[in-house]
Amino acid sequence: MIIVMEHKASPQQVDAVATRLQQLGFDTHLSVGVERTIIGAIGEKRPGYVEMLSAMSGVERIVPILQPFKLAGRELHPEPTRVKVGNTTIGGEEIVVMAGPCAVEGEEQLLEVAREIKAAGAHILRGGAFKPRTSPYSFQGLEVEGLKLLALARQETGLPVVTEVTNPRDIELVAEYADMLQIGARNMQNFTLLREVGHSQKPILLKRGLAATVEEWLMAAEYIISGGNHNVVLCERGIRTYETGTRNTLDLSAIPAVKHYSHLPIIVDPSHGTGRWRYVTPMAKAAVAAGADGLMVEAHCRPEEALSDGAQSLTPANFRQLMVEIKAVAQAVGRKSGSLTVV
Ligand code: PEP
Ligand code: MN
Repeated sequence: MIIVMEHKASPQQVDAVATRLQQLGFDTHLSVGVERTIIGAIGEKRPGYVEMLSAMSGVERIVPILQPFKLAGRELHPEPTRVKVGNTTIGGEEIVVMAGPCAVEGEEQLLEVAREIKAAGAHILRGGAFKPRTSPYSFQGLEVEGLKLLALARQETGLPVVTEVTNPRDIELVAEYADMLQIGARNMQNFTLLREVGHSQKPILLKRGLAATVEEWLMAAEYIISGGNHNVVLCERGIRTYETGTRNTLDLSAIPAVKHYSHLPIIVDPSHGTGRWRYVTPMAKAAVAAGADGLMVEAHCRPEEALSDGAQSLTPANFRQLMVEIKAVAQAVGRKSGSLTVV
């Protein structure tokens, strides 16, 4: 529930209400606005609580939070959240581009593509060290070695690094090397993992599950935020439909839906969303036009040699072209993008 304090409520009155709520077992979230202060109370509401709290001095009214996602929703937190990753802010005016290979394959492969995407104006380097693969016989990632190479690439390029963590026991290890922890589509409802990253200090990139509704996705974010980690960025990466012409069906309507229900930033991954490199730039442009706060794009210097997802990986030249094309769309919708000038 939301406790709306009177316009002239004193800090002491606000404190007294917050303390009472905590005594009743609620987690409290204070939001001090220009007009008035509101206190969000998350916990079990028992009969009589509303009357008791309404009687406290300085309380104007009590309204229930209608959505099941209390902390990820806009009711308690109308202002958009901005998430900092290194020196980059996601959820502001700038379209933030995360790019890099599907998997870290080796030092030369990673450094080469990291330099290319940096030169093209990308903000964050992506690359999988722990790869959740459909087949146990496919390349599973370089694991710790991959993490070390990502840290080396950060040192070389200055780009912050995002990489996936697939298991609660690896969170500390991945957090030692990465600037942002990625929860992959297949783990979106791994509640143990979500709870654990909720205790991490690192920002989280939460990808949408293969068959998850927007509500289920926001509830997954709720697990992380309720653990204390408010720095969550959502990533639409396509959902399963009957269409086989693309790897997944990129649900761009999730962007306005998430913006309507939640204050969290949302980025789009047109690489996993389509599975084909030719479709990546058009869908990246559509995502920016629809209000996405950023993109996640797979890039490889030699896609034909990639150990995973070569078919959806952009060459450096194609990635540069994407950066040029999204810049024009970003400008058209009042956003900023990249450091490249249109050529
Ligand atoms: C990835 O981005 O590396 C990945 C495996 O994507 P997803 O979890 O969306 O399939
Ligand atoms: Mn991939």
